[in-house]
Amino acid sequence: MRYSGLALAWNAITGNRSWTPAWRDAAPRDHYDVVVVGGGGHGLATAYYLAKEHGISNVAVLERSWIGSGNAGRNTTIIRSNYLMPGNVPFYEWSMKLWEGLERDLNYNVMVSQRGVLNLYHSDVQRDVFARRGNSMRLHGVDAELLDRAQVRALVPFLDFDGARFPIRGGLLQRRGGTARHDAVVWGYARGADLRGVDIVQNCEVTGIRVANGRVTGVDTTRGAISAGKVALAVAGGTSRVASLAGLRLPIESHVLQAFVTEGIKPLVDHVITFGGGHFYISQSDKGGLVFGGDIDGYNSYAQRGNLPTVEDVCEGGMALMPVIGRLRVLRSWGGVVDMSMDGSPIIDRTGIDGLYLNAGWCYGGFKATPASGWCFAHLIARAEPHAVAGAYRLDRFASGRLIDERGAGAQPNLH
Ligand SMILES: Cc1cc2nc3c(=O)[nH]c(=O)nc-3n(C[C@H](O)[C@H](O)[C@H](O)COP(=O)(O)OP(=O)(O)OC[C@H]3O[C@@H](n4cnc5c(N)ncnc54)[C@H](O)[C@@H]3O)c2cc1C
Repeated sequence: MRYSGLALAWNAITGNRSWTPAWRDAAPRDHYDVVVVGGGGHGLATAYYLAKEHGISNVAVLERSWIGSGNAGRNTTIIRSNYLMPGNVPFYEWSMKLWEGLERDLNYNVMVSQRGVLNLYHSDVQRDVFARRGNSMRLHGVDAELLDRAQVRALVPFLDFDGARFPIRGGLLQRRGGTARHDAVVWGYARGADLRGVDIVQNCEVTGIRVANGRVTGVDTTRGAISAGKVALAVAGGTSRVASLAGLRLPIESHVLQAFVTEGIKPLVDHVITFGGGHFYISQSDKGGLVFGGDIDGYNSYAQRGNLPTVEDVCEGGMALMPVIGRLRVLRSWGGVVDMSMDGSPIIDRTGIDGLYLNAGWCYGGFKATPASGWCFAHLIARAEPHAVAGAYRLDRFASGRLIDERGAGAQPNLH
């Protein structure tokens, strides 16, 4: 069914009896043209664009748990395209453009909120770094504004501007950046893919990847073997484990990234704000909770929960930036396993095995990439050539040295 104001009104007066399930809970079939492993945002977007843009709908998305149970449902929902490197900016800007039309495209309210992303700077050197980033963005046609202290104070007066260690000197603002509702993105893509014939198979863990004569032939799963013409991995924090099923060793480390939400308060934080003096960022959810996070935990893990030293570090960053936060209670904290690549930029590429494709290395920042990642991965799988905006995301760059060194730090240069 199509979602519309009329459908809402009709259901309101008829006891909500006409709503249908948003997607089928499909059972796996014996064969698919393409098997996508991982029912997060990237896997589902890939299946959606395979069907919609390339007419390939004999596709299954295999998810070991429920869709969105991984990072897609655990992130802090920030979307932006304020990158520095030429290999990254066009890709993330393409993603931003897709976000801007996504609700209409999916006929699903994913609550895109372009409230602005503000990166604070605290020293002359950091201002120069941000000016460089802003210039790079503008050269690529992306919006960026370098603000001085007075302009920042007018936007976010509740911050501590005169902290002895990190006085706020200004900020880099991308007004088109903001947030989107992460679960809704998963559900919207799932619904769109399902409508076009894709099977979304939950509780189906891939336990083996079948390869014969250098070519992938299918996967083993907890629900039986499935043969496939092509297999596409989009398992984020599980990448090194799943790729090892095909004998691949990748330049990926899995780390825990934690996030936090406070009790709900009246509207206070209108933007997404990042601290330049430490790793801390914050926004306010539509329910009123302050959503914040910081750095990854310092050692490798596949556990979806974090550790107290990082909690302390994040909260110290919060207190340094906006002491008012110390009055609030933290309602929940949680962790997700992020796939850190060694130059901080992603991989969307073929592997050395025919028909086996890889989508990984999203670090802290893959939620914002969801639409473009799905778009470009589908393009690669369907046409056997990289999409123009993802041409730099080659797996062999770690051997050839053509790194895209965004430092895994996104827009956060830190001071070390
Ligand atoms: C706390 C936190 C905050 C974040 N904040 C932001 C942010 O503000 N902005 C931003 O852009 N990014 C953010 N990120 C990063 C972002 O969430 C991820 O980069 C992105 O979600 C990864 O892609 P995905 O959605 O496909 O991953 P996932 O949702 O993790 O999808 C991978 C799926 O693969 C499944 N899987 C794994 N192994 C198997 C198997 N063997 N068989 C079948 N299925 C399998 C998993 O169950 C999982 O559902 C954050 C991440 C975390 C953890």
